[in-house]
Amino acid sequence: MNNGNICVSVCTANGGELSGQIKKAEEFADVIEVRFDCMEPQDIVPSFALLDSVKPVLLTFRPKEHGGNADVNLPGRIGFWMTFVRDGVPDEEKIWFDNEPDLANILQWLPGCTVIRSFHDFSGVPDDLDALFDTLSAKGDVVKIACSVDTITNAIPIWKLLERARSEQKLYIPIAMGEAGKWTRILGLAHGAFMTYASLDAGSETAPGQITARDMADIYRVKELDENTGVYGIVGGNTGYSVSPFMHNAAFRSQKMNAVFVPLQVSDLDEFMLRMVKPDTREVELNFKGFSVTNPHKRSIMRHLDFIDETAAAIGAVNTVKIEDGKFYGYNTDAPGFIEPLINRFGDLKGARVAIFGAGGAARACIYALKQEGSDLTLIARDPQKAKKLSGEFDIRFHHLTTGRRLPASAFDIIVNATPLGTAGDLENESIVTAEQFNGVRLVYDLIYNPPETRLMREATAANVPVIGGLEMLIAQGARQFKIWTGLDAPLREMSGGVRSRLGL
Ligand code: NAP
Repeated sequence: MNNGNICVSVCTANGGELSGQIKKAEEFADVIEVRFDCMEPQDIVPSFALLDSVKPVLLTFRPKEHGGNADVNLPGRIGFWMTFVRDGVPDEEKIWFDNEPDLANILQWLPGCTVIRSFHDFSGVPDDLDALFDTLSAKGDVVKIACSVDTITNAIPIWKLLERARSEQKLYIPIAMGEAGKWTRILGLAHGAFMTYASLDAGSETAPGQITARDMADIYRVKELDENTGVYGIVGGNTGYSVSPFMHNAAFRSQKMNAVFVPLQVSDLDEFMLRMVKPDTREVELNFKGFSVTNPHKRSIMRHLDFIDETAAAIGAVNTVKIEDGKFYGYNTDAPGFIEPLINRFGDLKGARVAIFGAGGAARACIYALKQEGSDLTLIARDPQKAKKLSGEFDIRFHHLTTGRRLPASAFDIIVNATPLGTAGDLENESIVTAEQFNGVRLVYDLIYNPPETRLMREATAANVPVIGGLEMLIAQGARQFKIWTGLDAPLREMSGGVRSRLGL
């Protein structure tokens, strides 16, 4: 539990919607920010009468030059605030003010008013943040520093000012904007941040990387976290689409654990491990306890580990890291997570003829697991170099995937898709095989879980071929991760519920 605030930003062009949005924000907000710079100019003054809430209301009128939406010059900004003081309800208990640094020597708020002195930089993190902190805190205001980061370690200097703020007893809001900075929004309150911002809904974010208020409160439980909270996370090149936070946080919540699972979008793994994770060199103390590791770091993470379990070593990839007493332990739960639903559905896999499409990390785990079961494997991939190497490592057949070379009909009992073909987005309408190639196939296993039913699965079902989707593997491998991290049996129903509700199922 911490003392921080969730501030929900309301950004509507239409003043007529303001009261409804404030009411809606009250469900999760400790403070409601009204972004007057989002509003049509003619709606602004009439809206001053609509700022009624049971929660404090923070007023913001951010011009374009400071990263906001208002197309207004300095006299226009001063005019806005003067009009509010004249026509609004300047109740210092209930109305808070967000002012940019250049207004510090122009506007003088009454003592007792809460003023957030906010600095925004959407192009990156300025060099001398300490000097900036000095300037912003000079008048005793709450300091807000929000800068875009394109790589996770760029957030470190923004984060580190929390220590300074604490030692100087100043109130501070650190925000690293963008996917790579999401962890600062989630973990800030636990480490003494005065406030964190959240969006009213998905799609109404007012800054990059903002999370909905519902997710901040219910999924990440940001107000329940503290410095002893065990931090887990998904380490990947692109964490934006991951549903793992919804799966693992549901598990932690159901077990009433002081733990949280956050997105950790990492481009340079070595730098991340050095500056944020390894005990001897890290610059921040986040109390990391474990990671899910995904593309493209499943192999490169191995050089950072003190121990790699036998299965992960044989596969040559780690998707799970446990951190204990400063030591790093690596496991692979993809292989058992993949094979469990397959055996449940297909039965004995010995001698089963299986085609695996793709030659990446997931294919590697599938091949290992199927070899253990004695299946007859063919790797089918578009990059002959990669496929040759992988098939050579495991001593299996290799077939080059080209549009011209069709698979021989009824050559396989099981088809496994370990490529992204069929994933939501640009590839959604693609499939690794054509409908007529299902002839003789007894089961199709698509590792993709979003969408839960891919084109491949739809076409297989239409051809009366049983299917397994990626959701089952996701939950099965996640359950093993939970057991590795906590020693407890995974709460499967809650984990599955967390993922399914995120996917709208
Ligand atoms: P990866 O390491 O990037 O490998 C992807 C493989 O697919 C590579 O061999 C790649 O070929 C191939 N590929 C990519 N685009 C292709 C295309 N247009 N046509 C043909 N082949 C293509 O990814 P991964 O980690 O193995 O994951 C593969 C899929 O499995 C992803 O969709 C992932 O979400 C899913 N997955 C699901 C679970 C689960 O729990 N359900 C777990 C792990 C992975 P190149 O090397 O030539 O690019």
